[in-house]
Amino acid sequence: MVVSVAVPVPFLNLLTYRIPEGMNPPTRGARVLVPLGSRMVTGVVIDGPHADPLDDRGGDSAEAEREHDFKDLVRVLDDGPFLPQEVVDLALWVADYYGCGPGDAIDAAMPPRSWMEGDAARRLADGSAIKTRRRKPATSPDLEWPLADAAISRTLTVEQAATLAQLAGAASREVFHVALLHGVTGSGKTEIYLRLSAEVRARQRRVLMLVPEIGLTGAMVAQCRGAFGDRVAIQHSGLSDGARRDQWQRIREGSIDVVVGTRSAVFGPLPALGLVIVDEEHDGSYKQEETPRYHARDVAIVRARRAGALVVLGSATPSLESYHNARQGRYELMTISRRVLDRPLAAVRLVDMRDEYAERGPEISLSRALEQAIDERLAAQEQVLLLLNRRGFARAVFCRQCAGTLECPNCSVSLTVHQPRQAGEGAVTLEGARARCHYCNYSMRVPKACPLCAAPYLEHLGIGTERVEEEVRARFPLARIARLDRDVIRRRGALPRLLASFAAREIDVLVGTQMIAKGHDFPSVTLVGVVSADVGLGLPDFRAAERTFQLLTQVVGRAGRGDKSGEAIIQTLYPDHYSIVHACRQDYEAFFAAELRYRRAMRYPPIIAMVNAVVRGRTLSGTMDEACDVAEELRSHARDAFSVLGPAPAPFVKLRGEYRVQMFLKGTSRASMRDAVLTALDRRPELRRRVIVDVDPMQVL
Ligand code: ADP
Ligand code: ZN
Repeated sequence: MVVSVAVPVPFLNLLTYRIPEGMNPPTRGARVLVPLGSRMVTGVVIDGPHADPLDDRGGDSAEAEREHDFKDLVRVLDDGPFLPQEVVDLALWVADYYGCGPGDAIDAAMPPRSWMEGDAARRLADGSAIKTRRRKPATSPDLEWPLADAAISRTLTVEQAATLAQLAGAASREVFHVALLHGVTGSGKTEIYLRLSAEVRARQRRVLMLVPEIGLTGAMVAQCRGAFGDRVAIQHSGLSDGARRDQWQRIREGSIDVVVGTRSAVFGPLPALGLVIVDEEHDGSYKQEETPRYHARDVAIVRARRAGALVVLGSATPSLESYHNARQGRYELMTISRRVLDRPLAAVRLVDMRDEYAERGPEISLSRALEQAIDERLAAQEQVLLLLNRRGFARAVFCRQCAGTLECPNCSVSLTVHQPRQAGEGAVTLEGARARCHYCNYSMRVPKACPLCAAPYLEHLGIGTERVEEEVRARFPLARIARLDRDVIRRRGALPRLLASFAAREIDVLVGTQMIAKGHDFPSVTLVGVVSADVGLGLPDFRAAERTFQLLTQVVGRAGRGDKSGEAIIQTLYPDHYSIVHACRQDYEAFFAAELRYRRAMRYPPIIAMVNAVVRGRTLSGTMDEACDVAEELRSHARDAFSVLGPAPAPFVKLRGEYRVQMFLKGTSRASMRDAVLTALDRRPELRRRVIVDVDPMQVL
């Protein structure tokens, strides 16, 4: 007898192993210890046991062939399935759809510390037992029910109530259904999620709630805890391995009713799934940008289809894909057009920075309108958010003599200037500032003279959050100012501390990147300033306008969520750009119509499906040659099923020392495009590991 096993080795197919005489056959989903080359690795049984194909031939020949054929399983590590069947199935779907190896996808579905390798595996192979910890039994669900009811007590608005009734109706049918909940910022979507979850839970079915980033949606977790107590589990990569694994175990045992997690939680081992909520479904962090390159929203929908569950995709700015699907009738569209308690959306003013520069010089970053508005809000003891979606002090170091910029030696990007010290640690100084690469982390001291021409005329180009923070400090010396971006939150605990401190109104002005735009509910924020709306607009990515619209609409949506109405001021050099115009009016429909026209004209998703293949290599010309070979083969197979664009150097032509050349496949059948790429690569095994195959790419830089 043999079994097929997935092992966590990139792009490797299923491997077949023989079950030796006397070993109990493992079940599907169980972990097994197997030899792989000279190593011993853990794998997961995907298929079998089957009859050994070699046994048919019988006699000596089978014995003789056996030697260089299937190796024996060394040990079975689990009595039953370690991964539930539906999770194994889901992982296999991911492997197939996204064109990675089954082991890559199974790996993504496994809790931490499930694979054993090296010494640990060897010890297991020698027969030492695996330790399984006994858990204390979970408290009875009945005991916690009053608890839940107590937390859910406020009166819903008319629109909330109608939406909830509709969703609850869908949930009660207990069949697969997808609803897109398009509710403006501050329309109270969380409240709907909680109540719907309670309904589903009352039907003895379980809830999976996906959020883009736990750190930024801690409030959601707290509310779930408030409503469902102990029977809520949190799953995200910020937890320690031990904690994550413990929670995973509790979910697996069925002692958890509601799982709140980031994208990998889509593989959570929940039995009897009844509801999947994907909050902020448009958010780019649902897409994993490494193998397996899955989109958790789309995987969630597949999972729900198999489980006969309801899916709720929630957003104030739905992705083009989801809204298009809703328009086409594939999803049910539900709209909440008003904020709770009839609070108005923030009034938005555009400031054309060309006028400001003309009158006050190119050095300023805050317009007079924005400065004055900040002044007023500070006087009224209200809070201010200032968005600039670029971290660091300056975007680049520029030489006025030779017009060169400081570039990363490993990447085709300019180095970003960072202050030597973080804010809050004393006076800001650029003495000893460093220029750093945001891709490979290379850094150098900012030189006094240009390394190319030796001229001492270096200047900073383009501003980042550090610079804005400094300017706001200088302009408003009495205000309490803080900054929130990836550099600040690198220190453990810094993010929750900062968010709590802002919520407690210990900070007046919070300067930050897109992090400050995500889902937060700070009722005392009455002013949102966008220092530059243009940061992402120039990127050569077909989603640039969509991202800009989403970011602006979301950040504007942070203003005026409490008793006092809010306003937003958006500074831009492109006041006529459609993404900025529609974001100002918070007019999703108009943006969608304009953007869909562009996608249709250019043949981009969601009008067609797309696969991006990125070839990486040591030299540009060699990589280009390889990519041309692949593209040529693809074209010869494509016929009319799809078209191949490129190859062309990727916008970031060099990253971390590797050159990148990409080609787009556009067509209607993902399967045929993906299979064509995989077939071409099958014939070039050496190239396989250097090619990124990205099905439904979220970014093409
Ligand atoms: P969204 O996610 O749609 O932007 P939230 O769920 O964060 O909105 O809700 C915005 C604010 O409104 C929160 O402070 C929430 O507690 C409050 N809220 C929600 N529903 C109601 C209601 N029916 N009445 C009063 N306040 C509500
Ligand atoms: Zn670099």
